[in-house]
Amino acid sequence: MESLIKSLDSLYCDSLTRYSRRKTIPVRVGDVLIGGDNPIVVQSMTTVDTMDTLGSVEQSIRMIESGCELIRITAPSIKEAENLRHIKAELRKRGYQTPLVADIHFTPNAAELAARIVEKVRINPGNYADKKKFEVIDYTDASYAEELERIRERFLPLVKICKENGTAMRIGTNHGSLSDRIMSRYGDTPLGMVESALEFLRICEDENFHEIVISMKSSNTQVMVQAYRLLVQKLNEGGFKPYPLHLGVTEAGEAEDGRIKSAVGIGTLLEDGLGDTVRVSLTEDPEFEAPVAKALIDRYTGRESHAPIADVSQYPITPFEHGKRHVTEIYNFGGHNVPRVITDISKIEKVADREMKAVGHFYLPELDKWKMNDQGCDFVYSGSNPIPFMLPNGMKEIQDFPVWSLAPDQVNKFPLFKLEEYKSSERFHSELNFLEISDLEIETAIPVVQDRKDTVLILKTANAHAMPALRRSFVGLLDAKCEVPVVVKVSYPDQTADMTMLYAATDVGGLLIDGLGDGILISLEKEEEHTRAEVLEQIKLHNTVSFGVLQAARTRMSKTEYISCPSCGRTLFDLQETTAMIRKRTDHLKGVKIGIMGCIVNGPGEMADADYGYVGSGKGKITLYKGKEVMKKSVPSERAVDELINIIKEDGMWNEPEAI
Ligand code: SF4
Repeated sequence: MESLIKSLDSLYCDSLTRYSRRKTIPVRVGDVLIGGDNPIVVQSMTTVDTMDTLGSVEQSIRMIESGCELIRITAPSIKEAENLRHIKAELRKRGYQTPLVADIHFTPNAAELAARIVEKVRINPGNYADKKKFEVIDYTDASYAEELERIRERFLPLVKICKENGTAMRIGTNHGSLSDRIMSRYGDTPLGMVESALEFLRICEDENFHEIVISMKSSNTQVMVQAYRLLVQKLNEGGFKPYPLHLGVTEAGEAEDGRIKSAVGIGTLLEDGLGDTVRVSLTEDPEFEAPVAKALIDRYTGRESHAPIADVSQYPITPFEHGKRHVTEIYNFGGHNVPRVITDISKIEKVADREMKAVGHFYLPELDKWKMNDQGCDFVYSGSNPIPFMLPNGMKEIQDFPVWSLAPDQVNKFPLFKLEEYKSSERFHSELNFLEISDLEIETAIPVVQDRKDTVLILKTANAHAMPALRRSFVGLLDAKCEVPVVVKVSYPDQTADMTMLYAATDVGGLLIDGLGDGILISLEKEEEHTRAEVLEQIKLHNTVSFGVLQAARTRMSKTEYISCPSCGRTLFDLQETTAMIRKRTDHLKGVKIGIMGCIVNGPGEMADADYGYVGSGKGKITLYKGKEVMKKSVPSERAVDELINIIKEDGMWNEPEAI
């Protein structure tokens, strides 16, 4: 991993080791202030047709009551922009002062009207002044400058209206809808995303207009995190004002996957003090989004008082591009292996074979055989409760060293040492041993494991600023050129399922995004007493969350990924129902990414990351894509899922689901 940052002066946050929120200028949006010393603002977007005034009002109220402090509503054309007036009036009449944001794609005239009505306008710099033709254009510096002049002419009227009316603006870049101009010069890179916003920001600054919030969204969590970091660095370097950041992961999907993916992206940035307003996008009713955003934000209340973490003087990690820490291959950890999942079952005494289904290993008594699904964990940690039956191939067990040292059969069983046990032991497994340490023991542990080719570290921290504390340990390993694999161990005793998802995604996902970590272990050790059934439920949750975090950080694909948009007033079909239908037929296609978009507005660009796409192109009509290529146009929606499957089959990516 080559360092991009030798000097901490060019960093993207105040501190890598001390929680400190980035100082931004406050931006007024009606009665709400974004940035400055103000609390991080929760926002969301309606999904009802904007022309449905009462529907929009009632949905907005449900959103406000679930914690939403800013309501965004799409305005695809002048008529919807005009209707924002009625929606706003009705909300105010009913006593709700929550500011409204108009969401604009392609239509400057709608933006200019909306900016006179609502408190904030969101523009997408990828399509405000450009129609996308997917052309690669070879610009000279002069022709590029001419393009910028064209944008200025198109954009200036809106800036002036915002200034006159005290309307704020979000310059909201989307990874999937960058203009042909940006794509031609920078590609769909984090730098391209940042430049896309800066082109518009320069025009605002020239006009002395600073009521601006910026976002860099992508459905790819790595790209999203890198783009926000790079944006901060470029704002600092370029002498721009420190504008507040709106954080979000686009098309995060639904349920557990959507929550985990959002937390990997948003949580990683919040840990470093970036972010002034958060929108979690889920393919669910919008009132479910604010509580998730709030749970992510609330984690930082009082975070400043965390235990100190040793400073770093040089940063050997690449924050603006994905680079993996170089790690020696030990057994099936490190090297080119995917990160491993270790699932803790140590609180279950004498686990039964049928109970192993909680970790994705299924015993079929009628066949006396074992099967494993895509989420079959790689290792189980049984602690001092050894598994009392013969392990099938593929299932590996980790036992506490005192138990392991007395075990008659040590095939497929590996010892876990505490640091003192490890230092004094004369007995080790010949291939694989685990050494559990806390971040405070890293300096002692490094010389002990430096030359070992049979040991994997299990790293944990008790620091409330967990991700940065763990990251600091990785910096120690990198500085010492110690290439031992590291499994990150976290525990969230007695948290709800939602919190466990969000916290694990932030703490472990934040490291994986930076190429750190060779495995995940969500521990049961601090849990209170629970019934056996409850513990098994927790184990099942930890197992699926572990795989979910690895997938959301794009380090291990174990299931189909659905890049589904959250839907909005432009949506042309029922996204939740359709996503559920597509999921039912395709969720056995490990590693395949399917984009499901409610409308064609940003076309295939919005799901630049997907292998196949299902996009609304008219009432009851669907356009199907393979990558960015249109495969079938205007397919009636009743046949569209079958046709999508045909495309996957023709592409050789289909397999029949296996019955378990
Ligand atoms: S892709 Fe989805 S969220 Fe985006 S504009 Fe279309 S319907 Fe709305």
